[in-house]
Amino acid sequence: MSETKYPTLRYTVDSRDRITWIDGPWDEFAAANGGRNLLAGDVIGRPLTDFLSGAETKHIYRSMHAYVRESGKKIAFDYRCDGGRRRREMRMEIEADGETIRYSSQILRETEISPPAAIDYTAKSGVFVMMCSWCKSFEFPVRSGCWRSLELIYSFVSDSFQLTHGICPACRDKFVFSKRHPEK
Ligand SMILES: [Zn+2]
Repeated sequence: MSETKYPTLRYTVDSRDRITWIDGPWDEFAAANGGRNLLAGDVIGRPLTDFLSGAETKHIYRSMHAYVRESGKKIAFDYRCDGGRRRREMRMEIEADGETIRYSSQILRETEISPPAAIDYTAKSGVFVMMCSWCKSFEFPVRSGCWRSLELIYSFVSDSFQLTHGICPACRDKFVFSKRHPEK
């Protein structure tokens, strides 16, 4: 790889899924996932799931952890994580080293976008909009089954809105392994 201009985000979690090490732009990752308490210094020792929004998102991460630990295989998937006016397509890789799990997240493509990029991921008022934690498509109205790309959000939601995080059907299909590891 000759892509050196984008920093790669790396972090590890221990056997209890607590974050043990971070290298790279953690804050942007957490913000785009609805995370709170974003300073990397506050993150070490805390469960990774503290920084993920939505029960289904947390479930999928736990399932991925179980899968890589048990199978010894690497998981790689693409997702979207915009920053400011940049649309970013990312590649995540997850791999177990014993009970430790190593995450590596790298930007594949970055493109300048005009508004609407200014999504307030932490807004606490307004109608609910479900956002897919992986591709950032949104479902509105929630539970309507109508998922659209993030670029269209202000065409469909004119009022202020708050995001609740989940997974869209297309992304769920990528995580079929999780069905083999049901979580209580
Ligand atoms: Zn999705």
